[in-house]
Amino acid sequence: MSQKLVIRSEYSFSIAPAIAILPLGTIDHQVLYAIKDGLSKALSRDDLSSLILEEVSPPLREAYNPHRQQFHATKILTWVDHVARDLRVLRVLGVIDVDLYVPYLNFVFGEAKCPGRSALISLHRLRPEFYGEPPNASLFKERAVKEAVHEIGHTFGLTHCTNSNCVMFFSNSILDTDAKSPYFCASCEARVHKLISWFLGEAEAKVL
Ligand SMILES: [Zn+2]
Ligand SMILES: [Zn+2]
Repeated sequence: MSQKLVIRSEYSFSIAPAIAILPLGTIDHQVLYAIKDGLSKALSRDDLSSLILEEVSPPLREAYNPHRQQFHATKILTWVDHVARDLRVLRVLGVIDVDLYVPYLNFVFGEAKCPGRSALISLHRLRPEFYGEPPNASLFKERAVKEAVHEIGHTFGLTHCTNSNCVMFFSNSILDTDAKSPYFCASCEARVHKLISWFLGEAEAKVL
């Protein structure tokens, strides 16, 4: 598969003020567009856009644990972070459809550099079918958006929030994800805006 990355934007900046969504393997476009839209709504900034990149193939074999039959999230995130260094965008969100884990946890919905350039989410445990429930495309997309906003929040340095309605609340299970909103609480929103401004300023300063 081609490793060519095409940024569908026309920024003249050296570092585009954008969040790039990077499909790791074939990912349903409806979900990718829902994530793009959800990020724009949650972050709500005119100076920060989101875009969808061409799909790439991560080194899945190296991340696979045959005993657990799962993929090591940190190994894939490290690869995304490496790819992110060549992409001239503020943040990169990898979207994958395999079951992720980190040592000492049964699974993870995603992982992020906190703070850092990259984040990763998995769609594997977001489909209602995974829990023996009938398919529900809008619920599936809603869950993907919440996980995406949560991990991108981490990349800007936000930690977990104690407000169970806030998108930065830690999801121990899909029930927590369903219970929270796709938005930041007032306090996290104020913090994330401050942090985004700082990172945008830093990116601009590097260009000058
Ligand atoms: Zn988290
Ligand atoms: Zn919060």
